[in-house]
Amino acid sequence: MGMKLKDSLTIIGGGLAGCEAAWQAVNFGIRVVLYEMRPKIMTPAHKTGKLSELVCSNSLRSDLIDKPAGLLKEEMRRLDSLIIRCADQAALPGGGALTVDREKFAQLVTDAIESHPLIEVVREAVTEIPQEETVIIATGPLTHDALTEKIRQLIGSDFLYFYDAVSPIVDAETIEYDKCFWGSRYRDEPAYLNCPMTEDEYRKFWEALIAAEQHEPHEFEKAIFFEGCLPVEEMAKRGYLTLAYGPLRPTGLIDPKTGQRPFAVVQLRPENAEMTMFNLVGFQTTLKWSEQQRVFRLIPGLENAEFLRYGYIHKNTYINSPIALHPTYQFKGRSDLFFAGQLTGVEGYIESAASGLVAGINAARLILGESPLQFPPETAIGALARYITTADPKHFAPMNINFGLLSQLDRKVKPKELRHRLMVARALEVLEDFIARYKLRRGKGKYEGWSPR
Ligand SMILES: Cc1cc2nc3c(=O)[nH]c(=O)nc-3n(C[C@H](O)[C@H](O)[C@H](O)COP(=O)(O)OP(=O)(O)OC[C@H]3O[C@@H](n4cnc5c(N)ncnc54)[C@H](O)[C@@H]3O)c2cc1C
Repeated sequence: MGMKLKDSLTIIGGGLAGCEAAWQAVNFGIRVVLYEMRPKIMTPAHKTGKLSELVCSNSLRSDLIDKPAGLLKEEMRRLDSLIIRCADQAALPGGGALTVDREKFAQLVTDAIESHPLIEVVREAVTEIPQEETVIIATGPLTHDALTEKIRQLIGSDFLYFYDAVSPIVDAETIEYDKCFWGSRYRDEPAYLNCPMTEDEYRKFWEALIAAEQHEPHEFEKAIFFEGCLPVEEMAKRGYLTLAYGPLRPTGLIDPKTGQRPFAVVQLRPENAEMTMFNLVGFQTTLKWSEQQRVFRLIPGLENAEFLRYGYIHKNTYINSPIALHPTYQFKGRSDLFFAGQLTGVEGYIESAASGLVAGINAARLILGESPLQFPPETAIGALARYITTADPKHFAPMNINFGLLSQLDRKVKPKELRHRLMVARALEVLEDFIARYKLRRGKGKYEGWSPR
């Protein structure tokens, strides 16, 4: 099939997702026009005009192959990711994490993009969604207001969010089920796993919660608390019983072990159909991660819980992808419009880049007259796309990569560490087949020849 009349790709946003998407598209010989509003117009978090500036931490998390973030990086390396290549080149020594010199990292990405003969970088804010060409919108959690308004009009105001207040998620396998019971308030429906508290347990929990250390929110984030989204610790500070009458109220719940109504109840909601993850309902929080682990482990049943995601509250513009997107990152209402990055509800630097990688490949394929690809859910890249497009749209919140998102093995394997290594081996194998089958550009991995045992 021939090329579309307009054979170039427009990418809006020169962040982690936008730069990775541009890189992937030019690898197919596609011309790219990349719009970046900085340094003319800055976001409240960026400090420079460089492309792919890291706005906060300089860590890209684990680089160990048997950790979910490590697997995601390895998959990206094997797909010739620009972001991971630059991160590897800017890496600081030490530990199992990929931590980078942030200046060097952003400079490497900027140089690679700006010097590429097929890429034109335009330093302007885009205020309309272009109609006549293939477009990737990758403007991030701090998307410029005028464009946010256009996205809102396109998707509908109910499906665009301006902040996220997410509760922690725990690994289902680390819950002590004998301390909990299934049930819903007043309904005979086992929708929640309930962690009952005696008054003594509640008091200890409350005391720890009000004394725990919090993150200092950005000035532009403080406004969020007035929008009806109170962190659990703020609620607790309003009074000893505020939580017991609020999200922890025991009304309509009887503990079958005692036949009594508990003093308070923390409800856990399954986060996915496979029930590998549970969400602590109503526990949006600004506590530091280490404090969340310490304090929330005081909840009966969660004494040894492992946290797959910590809770937080921050400014974050993102769309309801389960409603709006295909797993190819195409907008359901317009096949030549793609979204990528944090705006799609993936969470984190590498996750954002990974979604840009897929959107870039798919936009290029579409321009070349080939059908866009859905990455296999056995891979971390595919699992992320599947999560954001099949999560419950009523409770959709951004998510980091974790093993609970990948297709599970078809047999039980213990211990968990071995199971994860087998999932990693399968992910890499499936990815290699996928690369070969669709003739995708193969980059060099760091864990070539790795074996799970
Ligand atoms: C305050 C804050 C702290 C964060 N800290 C971390 C962290 O420590 N670790 C982590 O893993 N993740 C963190 N994240 C989440 C996320 O990983 C980053 O925001 C990441 O940069 C998202 O990548 P992205 O490509 O989607 O967006 P970005 O990297 O933000 O890129 C979007 C780009 O689009 C540009 N842009 C916006 N609107 C327009 C427009 N209309 N026209 C042209 N250009 C436009 C912006 O200037 C920006 O360069 C943080 C997010 C925020 C808001």
